[in-house]
Amino acid sequence: MIRFHILTIFPGIFDSYLAESLFKRAQTKKIISVRAYDLRAFTKDKHRKVDDRPFGGGPGMVLAVQPVWDAVKKIKTTRRKSLKKPKTRVILFSTRGKHLDAAVARRLAKYDDLILICGRYEGVDERVAEYVADEEISIGDYVLSGGEIPALVLMETVSRQIPGFLGKEESLEEINGSFPTYTRPEVFVPVKGKKWGVPPILLSGDHKKIAEWRKGVAG
Ligand code: SAH
Repeated sequence: MIRFHILTIFPGIFDSYLAESLFKRAQTKKIISVRAYDLRAFTKDKHRKVDDRPFGGGPGMVLAVQPVWDAVKKIKTTRRKSLKKPKTRVILFSTRGKHLDAAVARRLAKYDDLILICGRYEGVDERVAEYVADEEISIGDYVLSGGEIPALVLMETVSRQIPGFLGKEESLEEINGSFPTYTRPEVFVPVKGKKWGVPPILLSGDHKKIAEWRKGVAG
């Protein structure tokens, strides 16, 4: 079982997505466990402030190192009480990180615990990247408002690598390649006089030829 620990200032974001479909089943079957921690619970500030102005000036605010460090420390200490030597990886989501792909997901699927740090505002105090995180990951060359969507993307792609997460019917496209699929009707008529058909080979019943066709178009 992989345990995902998410550090965020918006823990509620994860509730609905994780309560449906494969994630719901995987948590019930104890293939994965997910917990979102509110970073505000770890701040020592009496107003539960987690951000501050950037040194050197500039617009926006920066997520401070102290609550992140305290949260990571607490999670690691707690986990060491139940597993003797948990294999743990601390990941910071960053626009400057290594790109997430299936190979990264396969590598991360081997850990017992993944601690996912979601940035917000202008980003996270760089000392989190330097001293707290083991690696920085980006999900693409664009800027999002926070690390919460990257965390969902990472959890999903890592979970798909764990035996039992996918049902029989959901193939691992990462291994088999992806190909176009069609279902009934054989001919769809969107407006009178127009016909949207299906590649005839898929209707041929010749499974060898179909497999070859799928291989040929697989991406
Ligand atoms: N000022 C920063 C962007 C901050 S966006 C910059 O220009 O690089 C706020 C947070 O959202 C980041 O700290 C990071 O945790 C997350 N984030 C935004 N885009 C992301 C992406 N493409 N991949 C991973 N995390 C991202």
